[in-house]
Amino acid sequence: MDETGKTYRLARERAPSVRALLRGAGLRPTRQRMALGQLLFGSGNRHVSAEMLHEEAMRAEVPVSLATVYNTLHQFTEAGLLREVSLDASKTYFDTNVSDHHHFFVEDDNEMLDVPEEALHLDRLPDPPEGMEISRVDVVIRLRRIAARRTLAD
Ligand SMILES: [Zn+2]
Repeated sequence: MDETGKTYRLARERAPSVRALLRGAGLRPTRQRMALGQLLFGSGNRHVSAEMLHEEAMRAEVPVSLATVYNTLHQFTEAGLLREVSLDASKTYFDTNVSDHHHFFVEDDNEMLDVPEEALHLDRLPDPPEGMEISRVDVVIRLRRIAARRTLAD
């Protein structure tokens, strides 16, 4: 089975409805999955942490615990609807754009932005160890604002 092909198709056919999206990914459209799916997939591509989505759910009066949000995000990820982008042990984002691409991370704002795959050129990659192949390369380019005074000093 071609997992990558499946993922790409799902990303493109996202428009119809969250219900169709969940069914297409083999997930039962429970009320909680539907509600979180609406928040996630209702408005273009986004990068959210479990905490961010939980806060949104609270604001939208969706009664759901943080643990359920975590579980749902991981289920969506396993089903190919989301891609997990981990910055470090304490910062994981879930990306609704499951195609290959890289990221800017704005450290001051904890915000993740897409970098199109073709915008970054990797000239040389290390040879993987014997018996292994590179499955994908995720690059996170960390950004910080340039303080005015520092710019002058430089
Ligand atoms: Zn992204």
